[in-house]
Amino acid sequence: MIRLAIQSKGRLNEDSLQLLKDSGIDVDDAKRKFIGKASNFALEVLYLRDDDIPGVVADGSADIGIVGFNEIAETGADIDIVRHLGFGKCRLSLAVPKDSGYQALSWFEGKSIATSYPSVLKGFLLNEGINAEIREIKGSVEIAPAAGIADAIFDIVSSGGTLVSNGLKEVCTVLESDAVLICRKGLEEGKKDLLRSILFRFDAVIESRGKKYILMNLPSSQIDKALTILPSMRSPTIMPLAIDGWSSVHSVVDENSLWTTVEDLKRIGAEGILILDVDKVID
Ligand code: ATP
Ligand code: MG
Repeated sequence: MIRLAIQSKGRLNEDSLQLLKDSGIDVDDAKRKFIGKASNFALEVLYLRDDDIPGVVADGSADIGIVGFNEIAETGADIDIVRHLGFGKCRLSLAVPKDSGYQALSWFEGKSIATSYPSVLKGFLLNEGINAEIREIKGSVEIAPAAGIADAIFDIVSSGGTLVSNGLKEVCTVLESDAVLICRKGLEEGKKDLLRSILFRFDAVIESRGKKYILMNLPSSQIDKALTILPSMRSPTIMPLAIDGWSSVHSVVDENSLWTTVEDLKRIGAEGILILDVDKVID
């Protein structure tokens, strides 16, 4: 049995549960429970506040955890980062009132900065040689300048919409973050095997995200051109059709470039194009 700590509610809860589900690990979304068990895998799930996850993994109350990298940076917990999971993307940034006349980092000299991430901020200021007062507040950091609590803020930003609606502008990104899978140091062999098995599944799911399977019919004379348009994991699969002079071409493409690829393929005579979801990718 291996014990995984995830956020009980909040921004990482749903994506963490989805990753487990896509990995074929069934856990009940026990919003009100503290602990749950997978029905088809030797896994227990602890549902916690995200702030508590690094410490609980470091002290061995849980073996592994899913938490924002920003929390690891802040707590400095003595754990291993096993994987960046690619969801919960955000950054820790400095922001100032938009009419502050900010030009360079030296603006912060002698100013006060409100934040829930005092440790990361302290490290940054020290490194930049800036003397500023850190005011730690737990929530609603973005209202601190308007409320007269601080001159500026250091907070989590994703779209930047919250900053704009509070009359602030982002001036410096200090840390990029996404959700990470963390592991306690000195995991026993049996648990390492379970972690390897979880990782194998997570990797297959993460690798498949943003990918589409595309297949089409193409005049065989156009295959050379198709090869320059289509990326693939190794190279596209090409099979002859029953009709002479035509082939079926299969490939995996990135969702970001899907529509331009389809347009290019149409232009060289592709027909009957099918686009399918990719569920898992195992290398
Ligand atoms: P908890 O009740 O578990 O302590 P919380 O309120 O501290 O929750 P959430 O707002 O749910 O935390 O955010 C959890 C994590 O989601 C953050 O630590 C960060 O890694 C990530 N995240 C991604 N985008 C954002 C965002 N726009 N604002 C805040 N957190 C974000
Ligand atoms: Mg929290």
